[in-house]
Amino acid sequence: MIRVKKIVIGVFELESNSLTAICSTRACFSMAFDRDMIPRVHVADYFESEGFEAIPTIYASGVPAGPLLQSEFDSILGELIERIPNDPEIAGVWLKLHGAMDVLELGSGDLEITKAVRAKVGPNVPVSIAFDMHADVDERIADYANCIRGYRTAPHTDIERTELHAAELLVHCIRIGYLPRPVIVKVPVIANGDSMTTDVEPGSGIIEQLWNMEAVEDILCPSLFLGNPWVDSACAGAAAVVVPNPGKEACAQEAACKLAQLLWNQKDRFRFRAKTMEPEEGIDWMLSCAKRPLFVSDTGDNITGGGSGDDAGLISLCMERNVTGALFAGITDRPLVEACENLQPGAAFHCELGGTLDPNSVRVSLDAVFIRKGVLEDWPAKAPVESVLIRAAGNDIIVSAKRAPVCDMAVFRNFSLQPHDYRFIVFKLGYLWPELYEAAPDSLMLMTRGSTCEVVEKCRFRSLARPIYPLDKDFVWEPVPYKSECGGKDQE
Ligand SMILES: [Zn+2]
Repeated sequence: MIRVKKIVIGVFELESNSLTAICSTRACFSMAFDRDMIPRVHVADYFESEGFEAIPTIYASGVPAGPLLQSEFDSILGELIERIPNDPEIAGVWLKLHGAMDVLELGSGDLEITKAVRAKVGPNVPVSIAFDMHADVDERIADYANCIRGYRTAPHTDIERTELHAAELLVHCIRIGYLPRPVIVKVPVIANGDSMTTDVEPGSGIIEQLWNMEAVEDILCPSLFLGNPWVDSACAGAAAVVVPNPGKEACAQEAACKLAQLLWNQKDRFRFRAKTMEPEEGIDWMLSCAKRPLFVSDTGDNITGGGSGDDAGLISLCMERNVTGALFAGITDRPLVEACENLQPGAAFHCELGGTLDPNSVRVSLDAVFIRKGVLEDWPAKAPVESVLIRAAGNDIIVSAKRAPVCDMAVFRNFSLQPHDYRFIVFKLGYLWPELYEAAPDSLMLMTRGSTCEVVEKCRFRSLARPIYPLDKDFVWEPVPYKSECGGKDQE
């Protein structure tokens, strides 16, 4: 009997933000187990078509938030590892990780996941990882993983392509009996993700170089990682990673250094695509802007970057400045949503809004009118979230029972609203997501303070490896590939 070779597949991803006071727990993850996880990834059909049996483990995908509690991390990781069978027919492991998972007291969750998988399958089984472009790659992962492939778009539109490429690399390594060791060069830059999109320069040119290099150099796969600017960890920052071809480690080292240097040389060309202003001057500009509705990002409390979504600071400032005609879409406050449960449309009430999750968030007192109930969607799972629309001081405010970033125009349908009825529509985002960007007559990013503050020089970091740009500017740097200290997978 021909025994079918098996490939283990697993997803455990979280984009952490160490600057928020809220820690992530198991409840923050959308989860599926065993065969139920298969539809959540894009590789099982591919592995089967190549003659392998896909062995599902877990799918655990978190909403961006604070560091993950270690006990919760251990328990989810345990569920992944216990599903990897002790079976000599296991030929490879495919993992989807974010790359910026920060675990309290532990550091890089992605490194610990990869270590645990390596310990379970032993040194001779190739492990391939698909990472987000905003991964803070801990260079020690080179001791435990064989292939690494990152997204090449921001906003991310190539998730499926990336997952598949990591799968193709794995099958290639299994077929030729090859255990590559990725070359990793860290770049001391915390690049703001919202300031480097791949549809405009310099991002588009950097990514073009990556494709060119893959086509012409004698390497298996290059990736560039920008890092997540809000992870306060020694491994935070950008990185170049190149998977070598067999016997071509020197080419891979050269390519990784070239990519790292390219990113370093472009570091001060990153720009936000939209206008950016400090809140006070931004409100002056908003009040003078003739285009409507103006789409405004409250960037310091960006839920997709791990912000708590419950900061009423901008609402408070707009009220002080007599801003009217705005829709705030939205803010998180479960007690307020529950308090509206039995109200009739038009009912007047007094409430406190905001600051129910993060003690650093601003809370405001409002005389409000209840308008109607509706739903937002949580993210990335897109499950419905109970929400209400209220009116206060001449503005409408959508309040959701759970953190739910508004990333597309569905919010207007869900609440029976017309965008053109408003002068300003305010989102808890960084850059506007594609559908909002297309729909916006004009847009503005307000540089509000908070755990996703876009002005990284103003964030309070304790653990970053220094020097790092742009916190430090006057230092020289040369690309140096990581050299193993422990030889984790003992491949030689
Ligand atoms: Zn990302």
